[in-house]
Amino acid sequence: MTKTIPIHADTSRIDPENKCDFCTGSKCCTYITQQIATPRSKADFELLLWQVSHRNIRAYQDEDGWFLLIDNPCDHLQPDGRCGIYDTRPAICREYSNDYCEFDAPAEDGFKRYFPDYDTLLAYCRKRFRKWGY
Ligand code: SF4
Ligand code: SF4
Repeated sequence: MTKTIPIHADTSRIDPENKCDFCTGSKCCTYITQQIATPRSKADFELLLWQVSHRNIRAYQDEDGWFLLIDNPCDHLQPDGRCGIYDTRPAICREYSNDYCEFDAPAEDGFKRYFPDYDTLLAYCRKRFRKWGY
């Protein structure tokens, strides 16, 4: 997988077999997600506010539930966009389909709610809880 667009590349010939070759930045190898319990109480959201206050930590909700999104490139991602352990890469990487991925549209497009930072989540908390307090 070379994931940089070659100069003069003909992007009209992208198919699932060669798609990753055209993907600049290898987005799918630059973050992890972790499902969390659905936050319901003020205490739950206070915890989430603390979490998203940290650099590169975001939160979102999609059709599968609530998740933390940790933006951090994989140690095995090579400067040329290739996987350094391709033959022994973890199962989740093997099972990941590029049929419709971040190359096609930002992941955020599929989020029901998206909290990229503290301010966004605090605004949501103030709306959701009439007596948020601050
Ligand atoms: S699976 Fe998608 S996001 Fe990941 S490297 Fe391939 S084209 Fe890029
Ligand atoms: S192990 Fe390889 S395929 Fe999996 S996230 Fe890391 S660089 Fe990407």
